[in-house]
Amino acid sequence: MNHSKVVIVTGGGRGIGAATAKLFSHHGYAVCINYKSNSNVATALANEINSSGGRCIAVQADVSQEVEVCRLFDTVDTELGQLTVLVNNAGILQTQMRLDEMNAERINTILTNNVTSYFLCCREAVKRMSTRHGGLGGVIVNVSSTAARTGSPNEYIDYAASKGAIDTLTKGLSLEVAKEGIRVNCVRPGLIHTQMHSDGGEPERVDRLKSHIPMQRGGLPEEVAEAIYWLACEKSSFSTGNYLDLAGGL
Ligand code: NAP
Repeated sequence: MNHSKVVIVTGGGRGIGAATAKLFSHHGYAVCINYKSNSNVATALANEINSSGGRCIAVQADVSQEVEVCRLFDTVDTELGQLTVLVNNAGILQTQMRLDEMNAERINTILTNNVTSYFLCCREAVKRMSTRHGGLGGVIVNVSSTAARTGSPNEYIDYAASKGAIDTLTKGLSLEVAKEGIRVNCVRPGLIHTQMHSDGGEPERVDRLKSHIPMQRGGLPEEVAEAIYWLACEKSSFSTGNYLDLAGGL
């Protein structure tokens, strides 16, 4: 298969990122799975994709760190070629608590991992994709959250605010690069069955809250991946600066 299209999926080792990496590979993309710490699952997924005829590399990089983001994109330039799509997906949650219990260290950790990381990866993608810089154009899909709308009271307002920042980044950047061949959109998943909720201290969170979801169930990573792919492919060619909610009606 000709793998001339190249995608980076940050945080691609598990959850929504892993489902996205598999789907892009299915559609013929060469895939870079970025991960921070869990090398076993990221490497296993890359091996699975490669052994089924795809082209995939797993690259360790903490995307909250500028130097590591630059190394990630340089590695993709060298090993896979011209970047076509960036999926900004890596994100973290911390233990549920009210704002009056949060300290600055916690808040800054959320903001650097969920916001600074997306800005840095967007910057590196724009440098490579923008016709202003001699690029061929491209697409950025940011993974935001329903939390940007709900605010996540009593659980993690810091996380919700970080996703609000991603909505604003998506809008501003989409307008900044609209004439330069780059589309920028985001998906806003609701409650999705992934391991992220364990990091928030409640592995069964989706099941606890599903009765509040009009469709009465949580979503699957694969359902989010399909929306990310649609926003990245030519079928959404006139869409930029938009938010696609995937929340079962929530
Ligand atoms: P997940 O299963 O916890 O996966 C998150 C991935 O991000 C992990 O593989 C982790 O890598 C990676 N990561 C975290 N910080 C990183 C960093 N600084 N550098 C590189 N990689 C980093 O979470 P998920 O549920 O699939 O979430 C994916 C995205 O969807 C996140 O942005 C999340 O906020 C968003 N989202 C999720 C839900 C939901 O209900 N699950 C709802 C709305 C939005 P390591 O494992 O290697 O550390």
